[in-house]
Amino acid sequence: MIRAFVVGHPIAHSRSPLIHGHWLAEHGIDGRYERIDVAPEAFPAFLAGLRANGFAGGNVTIPHKEAAFGLVESLTPRAERIGAVNTLFFDGSERLCGDNTDAPGFVAHLDQSLGLGWTERGGGTALVLGAGGAARAIVVGLLERGLSRVWVANRTPARAEALVALDPTRVEGVAWHDLPDAMARTRLLVNTTSLGMVGHPPLALDLLPLPEDAAVADIVYAPLETPLLAAARARGLPAVDGLGMLLHQAVPGFARWFRTTPGVTPALRARIVADLAPA
Ligand code: NAP
Repeated sequence: MIRAFVVGHPIAHSRSPLIHGHWLAEHGIDGRYERIDVAPEAFPAFLAGLRANGFAGGNVTIPHKEAAFGLVESLTPRAERIGAVNTLFFDGSERLCGDNTDAPGFVAHLDQSLGLGWTERGGGTALVLGAGGAARAIVVGLLERGLSRVWVANRTPARAEALVALDPTRVEGVAWHDLPDAMARTRLLVNTTSLGMVGHPPLALDLLPLPEDAAVADIVYAPLETPLLAAARARGLPAVDGLGMLLHQAVPGFARWFRTTPGVTPALRARIVADLAPA
């Protein structure tokens, strides 16, 4: 039996076991995907014991993504650029490798939701709100996808500047009070802040300055329909929710551990949506 896991602290909220369990059943694979709670002080020993415990690899979530980055034996170029690891696997030489699949997960969901041509809109521009861990992965994903200009606005400007350093020729910081101007120039607005998430205030932003051919993406997925996405729909703009990123980021890990590339299907999505629905 092939075994994989998601490790975090806490971990009870994670939907990853549901996603991977769905794929294991769908493909009739003799495998198991476990939820493992490991406190930060125990994380290095947990990683060191993976091989001996028979794991093929696993996912890493809060608060271990940066620690995993520093502890693995090798990194994919993408994980190196993002500075955080969310997927662990063993390479051909049995070295523990770290990848970051949040970037391709976000982009794959945009491709599926908007069609491949979204990168051509307005010459390829995006405005990213927020500059935390998820924003870094998303900016890397947008740059990899070839966008010509990515603006980043964050409550704490210094964190936005750290993202500018990823590629100063294409990434530019924007002051929060200049958002209306930046919105008028972009064709993709992405919320990566925690605003709009259950228990957090909504993102208070008037979407009127966005051009008519702009799209709006929110990576918050609880709730699935955030006030930002509702406002985008009310303006007649395509609205891309955060669940797709969560589903797509899981694909590369499953493919590596279980040797089968799964699909992000309506059935999988419906299963997670049902789980997210308030009881
Ligand atoms: P993080 O590193 O803690 O960053 C949080 C971001 O939100 C920062 O830019 C922070 O600004 C901003 N923020 C928080 N409160 C704010 C407020 N009151 N006003 C303005 N900005 C505020 O978190 P993260 O890991 O990047 O995650 C961010 C969100 O993305 C969370 O809701 C998370 O659930 C979601 N997420 C979704 C997926 C997915 O697969 N869909 C994956 C990862 C994360 P400052 O820098 O000024 O503090």
